[in-house]
Amino acid sequence: MNDTQIDFIFKITVIGDSGVGKTSLIKQYTQSSFENDYISTIGAQFSIYNEEIDGGKFKLFLWDIAGEKDFKFLRAQFYTKSKAAIIVYSLEENDHGRKSFKHIIEWYKDIKEYCGEIPVIIFANKVDLIDERNFDDTEVQKLVKENNFLGIYYTSAKTGKKVTEAFQYIIKFLYNQA
Ligand code: GDP
Repeated sequence: MNDTQIDFIFKITVIGDSGVGKTSLIKQYTQSSFENDYISTIGAQFSIYNEEIDGGKFKLFLWDIAGEKDFKFLRAQFYTKSKAAIIVYSLEENDHGRKSFKHIIEWYKDIKEYCGEIPVIIFANKVDLIDERNFDDTEVQKLVKENNFLGIYYTSAKTGKKVTEAFQYIIKFLYNQA
């Protein structure tokens, strides 16, 4: 697809604590691949991906921001002009007392400060590590409702579960808004 055929260009920012799987999710979505050992993202990185949904052609700029608070000073620049944000947390049991879940709101405040009220969706990642049948989603559903998030997807960057579906959901939402 060359650029003259592109209908829309969207910048989507992927945020969340370090180690929750942001880089892996983007890699699974854009390259259908997964690596067990990843070197942590330093600062930020971005991927460009051409997507086609229902005849619409999209160019996506996917920004992956390092989770470490040391990089806070960089984030303002990277958030600029984001059309939507994905906040990722990890379903891993040993996620330091569900630290990444508790930090969702902080990430939300952070992006709101620079981008205003943009659409936000939650990815509960590493779903391959839990038994979904026994998962109590009451707390996260409440959070989604209270903050008017677009919704929640239970993803696995490892198996690919719901990854494409979740990214495409956001693109369709932005397209319908445009
Ligand atoms: P980031 O710091 O948020 O970008 O996280 P990474 O993408 O670097 O992933 C951190 C670690 O978690 C890596 O060792 C990945 O292989 C692993 N990981 C990421 N996503 C998943 C997943 O869905 N399931 C499992 N089991 N491991 C994952």
